[in-house]
Amino acid sequence: MEKLAIHGGSPVRSTMLSYGQQWIDESDIDAVVQVLRGPFITQGPHIAQFEKEVAEYVGARYAVAFSSGTAALHGACHAAGIGPGDEAITSPITFVASSNCVLYCGGTPVFADIDPQTYNIDPAQIEKKITSRTKAIIPVDFAGQPADMERIMDIARRHDLTVIQDAAHSLGAEYNARKVGTLADMTMFSFHPVKHVTTGEGGVITTDREDLYQKLQLFRSHGITRDPGMLLKDEGPWYYEMHELGYHYRLTDMQAALGISQMKKLDEFVRRRRLIAAAYNESFQGMSGIRTPYQASYANSSWHLYMLRFQQDAFRVGRREIFEALRAENIGAHVHYIPVYRQPYYQRLGYDRTEYPEAEAFYEEAITIPLFSKMSDNDVKDVLHAVQKVHAHYRN
Ligand SMILES: *Cc1c(COP(=O)(O)O)cnc(C)c1O
Repeated sequence: MEKLAIHGGSPVRSTMLSYGQQWIDESDIDAVVQVLRGPFITQGPHIAQFEKEVAEYVGARYAVAFSSGTAALHGACHAAGIGPGDEAITSPITFVASSNCVLYCGGTPVFADIDPQTYNIDPAQIEKKITSRTKAIIPVDFAGQPADMERIMDIARRHDLTVIQDAAHSLGAEYNARKVGTLADMTMFSFHPVKHVTTGEGGVITTDREDLYQKLQLFRSHGITRDPGMLLKDEGPWYYEMHELGYHYRLTDMQAALGISQMKKLDEFVRRRRLIAAAYNESFQGMSGIRTPYQASYANSSWHLYMLRFQQDAFRVGRREIFEALRAENIGAHVHYIPVYRQPYYQRLGYDRTEYPEAEAFYEEAITIPLFSKMSDNDVKDVLHAVQKVHAHYRN
């Protein structure tokens, strides 16, 4: 048996392979430099064009760009009317932004446990958490696999709730052959560098509803409008009005130009991610004690993340040792995610982890392995090799 690097053997790779990273080429750099040479580096024509590209790609009527995905979620919660006393239901297996956005608006995040197969929020658990205060559902398309949106939208219609889909992981994914982006009332995409395509920092909300579109636009720019159709009066050509307490959450024109250039490559990036995920599935499916990601029949994931579950009773050591052994092989393992209710801030708010047995079980066993479009075939082979090496060593 090959000696593990953590025990003094030589690592599978000489340099660390990160779990995810951007793919920027010369055409992206040229696009940004062109904006820098021009007159508008913040509020220029590229923002509207970037919004148009994203809206067209997903088939939505409107898109509003924000300075980050988190800012976009904040805007969506505001547009959904979430305020003090209101509750919004989301998944505990997500990044903290999915529930922090509810807190920003003075509302209360409520977590519904995940489905043990898809790791997405379980619609049956959502139903159990609905109260007279529930205002919204925020499903998260974990790892790029869309949540069960048909069932979630059905629940929302029956209880008159707004649905904000956190699609930070699922740009390019499909639900029943329909692109993510119009399945919910509002859909949030993130353009952080580890996501499918990037603007450095950035986020977008897509929606088909004009009322939400207008609220989002006001919110991202101080609550200020210059739209003659919205002004209460007209004191002259300089005149504008602040109608709501908005924020300064705008994307820059430099970032939008990068986004437009990156969107051209999105389909190719997703295709590459799917190929790598298929190679992983094929190699890991037959390995005892390892669970590969289950894919629901309605889902065509865009594979933001790939995680394995190392079943506790199948190994001589715990998840931590397996994780550290992979890191020692220079494979940039990660854990997505620490359940949000476990965070000290949320613990102070009184969340009880015994309410989420499936999220707890998932968190005990999950390890994310590298997956990004720019990975070479050799990088993929290194990951396969390292997982096989660690598995052979520690399996019962
Ligand atoms: C990345 C991400 C966000 C938004 O993050 P930003 O860094 O603010 O763009 C929100 N939810 C999830 C699940 C994410 O992964």
